[in-house]
Amino acid sequence: MTNGSDQVFLVTGSNSGSSRGYLKKSSFHINDIKDTKILNLSSIYQSKSYGPIKQRDYLNQAIHIETKLTAFELLDELLIIEDKLGRVRKEKWGPRTIDIDIIFYGDDQISTPKLTIPHYDWENRDFFIAGLKEINCPFIKGNGLSFKNVKKLI
Ligand code: ATP
Ligand code: CA
Ligand code: CA
Repeated sequence: MTNGSDQVFLVTGSNSGSSRGYLKKSSFHINDIKDTKILNLSSIYQSKSYGPIKQRDYLNQAIHIETKLTAFELLDELLIIEDKLGRVRKEKWGPRTIDIDIIFYGDDQISTPKLTIPHYDWENRDFFIAGLKEINCPFIKGNGLSFKNVKKLI
């Protein structure tokens, strides 16, 4: 599939319901997206919730895919998967069954209201970086990074 396809890094997250189950289901759905294939998945990382609302810990997982879809087509597919898995959008950063963010799409830079790539806040989020580093995302530089706020689960 490599011809004409792009290397993309996603991070899934969940802190509501059966979070491990939602991460697993989301990866099955991602692999089922047309012209898209999962190449690698990180371990699952646990972290305290981020942002102003107090809520349960998060589980996150980084996923390396290749896809022939454009970044916008891919985003639409990911939003459909979030809907299928019962995501309800109430308050910003509220608890969610599943969140799927596109962190890098090749080395594209996109800045629109609907889509910003690379993810606007990736450099501040250990719970993205730990998993991305584990699966050799080329944009994560530096050896001996330490991740105080995340715990790798086995
Ligand atoms: P944050 O973006 O801070 O991680 P969030 O993931 O909770 O917060 P959402 O409510 O899931 O935010 O997303 C709102 C919108 O963000 C989506 O509908 C989508 O259009 C837009 N968006 C912009 N850039 C991206 C991206 N790189 N990946 C996924 N969605 C994005
Ligand atoms: Ca997010
Ligand atoms: Ca999101």
